[in-house]
Amino acid sequence: MPVSDYQLIESWKQVLTLSKLQPGQTVTVLTSTATHPQTLSCALIATQSMGAIVNRLDLPPVNAEKAFSRDSLAYLGTTPLTGNKAAIAALKESDLVLDLMTLLFSHEQHDILKSGTKILLAVEPPEVLARLVPTEADRTRVLAAAKLITAARRMTVTSPGGTELSCPMGDFPAIAEYGFVDEPGRWDHWPSGFALTFPNDRQTTGVIVIDKGDILLPQKHYVSEPIRLTIEDGYATKIEGGIDAALLRDYMETFNDPEGYAISHIGWGLQPRARWSTLGLYDREATIGMDARAFEGNFLFSLGPNNEGGGDRTTTCHIDIPLRNCTVRLDDKVVVQDGRVVDFRA
Ligand code: FE
Repeated sequence: MPVSDYQLIESWKQVLTLSKLQPGQTVTVLTSTATHPQTLSCALIATQSMGAIVNRLDLPPVNAEKAFSRDSLAYLGTTPLTGNKAAIAALKESDLVLDLMTLLFSHEQHDILKSGTKILLAVEPPEVLARLVPTEADRTRVLAAAKLITAARRMTVTSPGGTELSCPMGDFPAIAEYGFVDEPGRWDHWPSGFALTFPNDRQTTGVIVIDKGDILLPQKHYVSEPIRLTIEDGYATKIEGGIDAALLRDYMETFNDPEGYAISHIGWGLQPRARWSTLGLYDREATIGMDARAFEGNFLFSLGPNNEGGGDRTTTCHIDIPLRNCTVRLDDKVVVQDGRVVDFRA
């Protein structure tokens, strides 16, 4: 259902309040050609109503000739900020950047965050934003999970479909995505609700079976027959199965980059208001699939870069893959049992 401007403004206010926006602070709204007009107009009203000094910075899109998809998370090349000193300066001088464009995994983004600027990404359609407005409880739960990750040295994952994965960890920090930015220099994504980290480089081994009904992103496709990934020394060395495996192999070959096959982030979904089934209700170009990434009890892993977590691997290829029905262990502690979250107190 469509969302009224009033409701979306209230949603923005909740996110901005959780993000501790104060009167007199500077907010820059980053936009591009795909920015949703209602999300933008409501963000401008909400920030002004809270007494912020508000700018809008509109940047032209890039990478069209290289990317094979319109999905904003599909291709992680240069960004509209690359070499754009004036734009970078404006963002560094802002207390809060509302990213309605999608500025991900870039050197420039890290640089801006280091200056203390907060960045909140929000590009899902307005009704998804309204349904998945973050809460303080989301933060508490995700931080508790991140704390467990910080204390662990190995994540293991099994599934009835045949997944047997071992991820030594500890070299990279835990990352908590709960949908708002309450600390200086924090990046987050509204909507979200998951905890993740990156395994130690070149150490993950095992088999991942992407089973019937599991989701590939940015394909935004429910797999119709299992895909079997063989993981050796941190890389998917074989992608086997039927037509879905062939489609995945072909898509990944377009990047012509062996680093695209590396295991990237690993973690699990903690957002009870996000649903596995939602993706099937949407046109594929209408969403980036955050319900799929965040639904409670998934095991979310990805292929591609680890620079977001502080590693040195960059690649333009990034595939997010949420699996259902997995059991996830941190050392000996079960944190997801057969696709259901086991909560521990922070
Ligand atoms: Fe990802």
